[in-house]
Amino acid sequence: MTTARIDIEGLRAAVDGEVITPEDPEYQAARQVWNGCFDRLPAAIVRPSSAAGVAAAVRAARAQGLDLTVRGGGHNYAGHAVADDAVMIDLRVLNTVTVDPEAKLAHCGGGALWADVDAATTAHGLAFTGGFISHTGIGGLTLGGGMGWLTMRYGLSCDNLAAAEVVTADGRIVTASAEENADLYWGLRGGGGNFGIVTRFSFTLHELSPLAQLAMLWWTPDAGAEGLAAGRALIESLPEGYCAAVFAVCGPPAPFVPEQYQGQPGFAVGIAGFGAPDELEAVLKPLRDAAPAPAWELVTPIPYTALQQMFDEAAPHGFYAYEKALYVDDLTDDVLAPIIARYPLRNSPLTIVPIFPLRGRYSEIGDGETAFSGPRNPCWVINISAMTPDPTGFSTERQWVRDLWDELRPHANSAATYVNFLADNDPDRLRESYGDKYSRLAALKSTWDPDNVFRHNANISPA
Ligand code: FAD
Repeated sequence: MTTARIDIEGLRAAVDGEVITPEDPEYQAARQVWNGCFDRLPAAIVRPSSAAGVAAAVRAARAQGLDLTVRGGGHNYAGHAVADDAVMIDLRVLNTVTVDPEAKLAHCGGGALWADVDAATTAHGLAFTGGFISHTGIGGLTLGGGMGWLTMRYGLSCDNLAAAEVVTADGRIVTASAEENADLYWGLRGGGGNFGIVTRFSFTLHELSPLAQLAMLWWTPDAGAEGLAAGRALIESLPEGYCAAVFAVCGPPAPFVPEQYQGQPGFAVGIAGFGAPDELEAVLKPLRDAAPAPAWELVTPIPYTALQQMFDEAAPHGFYAYEKALYVDDLTDDVLAPIIARYPLRNSPLTIVPIFPLRGRYSEIGDGETAFSGPRNPCWVINISAMTPDPTGFSTERQWVRDLWDELRPHANSAATYVNFLADNDPDRLRESYGDKYSRLAALKSTWDPDNVFRHNANISPA
């Protein structure tokens, strides 16, 4: 039972949307976030339907002395979107996406999910980088950076942010762009939800065929080292415009996977292109020549929207999840060896180690241009991600993540991590992740949120 004293009628009068309290039947479902580890009891959940409603909710919560949290898609591993006794400002109603094909801009509500964005943009043959799971919120993902299939082609999601409409800690509505509030615009591109609530993101779009060509090749652990080494070599020399990812992943229960490999550990290389199928085969040739034959493969044309959804079912809401990540400059054999040795030792078939190449357009962007918490030289981010359907076995799986991370740590190129992959509240690691940018972020926080109203996030303390 929440213990916060709250003037619900005052909140209802202020906000132009639903206000859900513990007495309401929807409360139990509305307080859930994606990670089932968090069973928290907010004092109320408000669902404003406009930026003005969000601003009113911020002012009302502050006037009542209540803590507040912001829920975009609710996917944060650390469960930042919900807190005991706080007012949750749930942005789900603000999910409209409008595309201006002439200006090549997408205007997206702050509570939109990637599925909303991808559907709207690909209808015009346009796209920009979004996450790998389409039910993730664009809010948290973009504000922390945003990696996906298109990172090598178009940089991070935040690199494509042209402007944002922001509700500030004192309940004003401002615009952030290169021309207006440029300091805030810088901080929003990587600094997380620290500086305000974004009610509208405007993204720059790029022409992209709505049909991708995908190749996913999967090897059993005995062939993993050779398969991944060949995959690494291919990814490092991919022609411009191609996209890639590497995975330690169990064979999914899918028709294209022979039964004996379903649920079994293995290692995969995924390459996506947007040209003709024979172009993709030509690109794959060096990999096929160098690697042992995969145990199974999926080589197929696939709508870009389906590519964006292909892992959705493997990351359902409500499961128990934990992750740790690090950056390495090179995916050397020494880096791959512990992953290949340890992956078969985890218990859950849903536990996965996605490894994303950060190169191409990603590393053409200057380190200081955005607040992003990672190096801009060509490198890789290794995300060790555990998931179990229920609490049984979760702590063992979490320990498996920590052990692998400890073994990989000496290979990291810095003390940084991608803040969106931080499941632990670890202020030191957060500071290390932003490195030299931290003091600029702390100063920005003092300007835009001196009282740390937006503190349920990867939190930067005001300077
Ligand atoms: P929420 O939990 O709703 O919010 C997270 C934080 O962002 C909170 O602090 C919240 O206050 C703040 N926030 C959210 N929306 C707004 C807003 N509009 N204005 C201000 N603050 C806001 N990351 C990648 O880069 N690439 C991936 O492919 C990827 N895949 C993922 C897959 C899964 C299954 C999960 C669980 C996570 C994945 N992530 C990925 C990590 C993801 O970027 C973060 O979890 C991110 O925080 C999710 O954003 P959200 O809006 O869904 O989360």
